[in-house]
Amino acid sequence: MTMIVGLTGGIGSGKTQVSDQLAGKGIVVVDADVVAREVVAPGMPALQAIAEHFGEQMLDAQGQLQRQLLRQLIFADEQAKAWLEALLHPLIRVSIVQQLQQADSPYVLLVSPLLLETDQQGLADTIVVVDAQPDQQVARASQRDNNDASQIAAIMAKQMDRQTRCQQADMLIDNSGDLGFLQQQVDDLHRQLLDRAKHHA
Ligand code: ATP
Repeated sequence: MTMIVGLTGGIGSGKTQVSDQLAGKGIVVVDADVVAREVVAPGMPALQAIAEHFGEQMLDAQGQLQRQLLRQLIFADEQAKAWLEALLHPLIRVSIVQQLQQADSPYVLLVSPLLLETDQQGLADTIVVVDAQPDQQVARASQRDNNDASQIAAIMAKQMDRQTRCQQADMLIDNSGDLGFLQQQVDDLHRQLLDRAKHHA
């Protein structure tokens, strides 16, 4: 089986930057956020189950999930959140595993903001953490999303703390510099991972 590299980091740390660069080198990227959207796409059984459980108002006129509405609902209701997670997490995991198994690059990247908080961690042979200074995370993420800095800071406060996350890294990417500095580290990381993949059974 292809070596699986888990890539994680806090909001705005640079996960997408890193994974885009590795994808550019021909590495297959499985993104847990993308999979989480795929399992609730129109026509998928989970979307039907959500509409039946929470009501048809969860769907817009095109039959797409009203994410914002669902987010608000589960934010205020622990039981609803638990129900939704029990529905979606196993489906997301099955789909992630399928996509990882189909990967045909020297190693495969599993990008997930919740890698270390979920059982997705167990799928990875190696864990790479992207790390930036908290003020850089806030500035970069709020600029990208055109979002309020306080909203980004609130999300960060709910995420795993920086030290705990970094301690779990087999390899650490320091994204506290400019994009050129990041690129150098990604090149280096790629070389090391190709080398490890050679020895991976
Ligand atoms: P999220 O968890 O919110 O999806 P992420 O970890 O995927 O975030 P990115 O989207 O890669 O983070 O980066 C956040 C923003 O910061 C992007 O707009 C990206 O282009 C920018 N960025 C990333 N690294 C740097 C850097 N070293 N210098 C300047 N901008 C950067």
